[in-house]
Amino acid sequence: MPRYKTVEQVLSLMKDITRVRNIGIIAHVDHGKTTTSDTLLAAAGIISQKVAGEALALDYLSVEQQRGITVKAANISLYHEIEGKGYVINLIDTPGHVDFSGRVTRSLRILDGSIVVVDAVEGIMTQTETVLRQSLEERVRPILFINKVDRLVKELKLSPQEIQKKLIDMIVEINNLIEMYAEPEYKDAWKIKPELGNVVFGSAKDKWGFSVPIAQKKGVKFSDVVNAYSSGDKSKVEELANRVPIHEALLETVIKFVPNPRDAQKYRIPKIWKGDLDSDIAKAMINADPNGPIVLMISDMKVDPHAGLVATGRVFSGTLRAGEEIWLVNAKRQQRVLQVSLYMGPTRELAEEIPAGNIAAALGLDQARSGETAVDIKYKDANVGSFESLHYVSEPVVTIS
Ligand code: GDP
Repeated sequence: MPRYKTVEQVLSLMKDITRVRNIGIIAHVDHGKTTTSDTLLAAAGIISQKVAGEALALDYLSVEQQRGITVKAANISLYHEIEGKGYVINLIDTPGHVDFSGRVTRSLRILDGSIVVVDAVEGIMTQTETVLRQSLEERVRPILFINKVDRLVKELKLSPQEIQKKLIDMIVEINNLIEMYAEPEYKDAWKIKPELGNVVFGSAKDKWGFSVPIAQKKGVKFSDVVNAYSSGDKSKVEELANRVPIHEALLETVIKFVPNPRDAQKYRIPKIWKGDLDSDIAKAMINADPNGPIVLMISDMKVDPHAGLVATGRVFSGTLRAGEEIWLVNAKRQQRVLQVSLYMGPTRELAEEIPAGNIAAALGLDQARSGETAVDIKYKDANVGSFESLHYVSEPVVTIS
């Protein structure tokens, strides 16, 4: 797999947005969100030439260092090929836990798909239900990753049949939640159907995983999993990770089941945009038109010690370029975009332009806060609207009096 990509190569993929996927990982605490992100980054990171050079000298991608990167990066761009075609997958950071500030929802807004990670032993927990519900309410399509399947063998000592039964029960439970929380038109379309391949079983820690179609293609069975762990021979587990690497299973599933930004914006904009859907600006977003007026939804503001405040967000319409004057709808301020960059793996690289449907990082928007809607300056007085105000799905609160 080509790990060294030039900015031009990534940009040319980004211009064909059928080759882009915007996703996040959501989970109950400790179910494996961080481990899963780290595994994806290590295996499929797009590494810029600059970082690649340093990598040789410093073993840049050692696990400990990646952890730091994953925590810091607002977005990580991954590259993956299936059937000879290359794709850019933007893995957008979502906060590790649900709080009352609406942060999970805000990140969900810029995604089109979510990987819902569930610990195979613990099963569906309160936060699983909360994040899945939020995802469905934002029309973000969930795919399922049942993680820590190793624990079913090592700790619960289940047989292959018992493992399958447990996994099926979990899928039924997830589908009940989808039935409950999805809007009518997505209730069936978005259900988890193992035979189609929109659920991955595996171990992020041990780096193996498969969907049913992948298992069939590679001839892997649950009995292989049981044998690998009950043998006590570590090399058997490594063998499994070589036969069915977790990053391949997850990225293939994402590419196949998460809609591309153009398809997604058609049904997501009517849900999340609070403004006239017949207006030019809304139509441009519905079509993810790179020639339309700029609309940027900022999901993250971070301080970079070298660059200052970096705004990360999704370009829903238009093409973001340096020098552009834009209007911050919430802050009611005009600001100029000083620099535009794209994510190369976890780092940022200067780019001339970022077209609709993609994730961009911008400098110069220091008056913006997370959740800000930034539009083309010509809409300054037009009262075009902004993204739907966040509504919070809160977890039950225990008050101690
Ligand atoms: P997060 O809170 O969802 O980000 O969870 P982490 O990724 O930090 O994982 C929580 C704990 O579960 C850590 O101790 C991980 O090493 C462990 N873990 C993650 N994936 C697996 C797995 O596949 N199998 C087992 N047994 N442990 C795992």
